[in-house]
Amino acid sequence: MSTLYITHDAFLNHDTGEWHPERPARLRAIGQALSDEKFQNLRRAEAPRAAREQILRAHPGRYFDFLERSQPKDGLVVLDGGDTVISPGTWEAALRSAGAGIQAVDEVMQGLAANAFCAVRPPGHHAEAQRACGFCLFNNVAIAAFHAQAAHGAARVAAVDFDVHHGNGTQAIFWPHASLLYASTHQMPLFPGTGSIAERGGSGNIVNVPLKAGNGSAEFREAYESVILPAVRRHAPGLIIVSAGFDAHRSDPLASINLAEEDYAWVTRKLIDVARECCGGRLVSMLEGGYDLTALSRSVAVHVQALLEAF
Ligand SMILES: [Zn+2]
Repeated sequence: MSTLYITHDAFLNHDTGEWHPERPARLRAIGQALSDEKFQNLRRAEAPRAAREQILRAHPGRYFDFLERSQPKDGLVVLDGGDTVISPGTWEAALRSAGAGIQAVDEVMQGLAANAFCAVRPPGHHAEAQRACGFCLFNNVAIAAFHAQAAHGAARVAAVDFDVHHGNGTQAIFWPHASLLYASTHQMPLFPGTGSIAERGGSGNIVNVPLKAGNGSAEFREAYESVILPAVRRHAPGLIIVSAGFDAHRSDPLASINLAEEDYAWVTRKLIDVARECCGGRLVSMLEGGYDLTALSRSVAVHVQALLEAF
């Protein structure tokens, strides 16, 4: 058993423009960090394209078709009032970004890998069923969760989101599904504005723990110990999917939470412990945000190191 690391060079062709924080250099920095000799035991795979019908478990066909039609032959097209940019390479990247989660779920649910990390872009947790938002086109985590249920019979799935921004898209898609838990820590107030404690889902299946600007390790760990991890245990999922954004790091330019790399190692180990209790350690982690290249690559390194040490 091994940790699977899924990525693809097509993600580098998703061009968001010179000024954009969600840029190809993020994946180059991660690739460089994971090329270190201590990661030689990672099993590496290229992300396949998700099939239309796999994506349509989380998005309507007309939205899929709209995005496909929106791809420019050259230049950039801006969706979502400026945040979400698409280029000639974006469609391929978006299909493979969703496909990475599909592949990771297939291998982890079949016991071919112990767990998996998907270094993908565009990210997914702001994408709603019918709306691109916050650098996200398809909701990679929701597509992966529905795939675990439809293709592998997982009765319940939990998505845990430690990106500093609230995953409004995952929350909205999961809301009516009692079998899907969405649990998030995030800074509030901050983009996208959702994520209050009062947002609890159709059946208590949404768990939000907002943090305040200036909070750090102590508040983050308390949120996991007292709320998030117990909620995941109660849900008793057959798979845990992590929306792994690293922009709550103290060096990140887009937010004001003061985590350090050790906090990402800590939360990863805690989630692995719960995955062991609930579902034989089955955990799939998908990259979301993280915009300081040094903080991002170091944080991903300790996250993946913890995944490797899980078995
Ligand atoms: Zn974020």
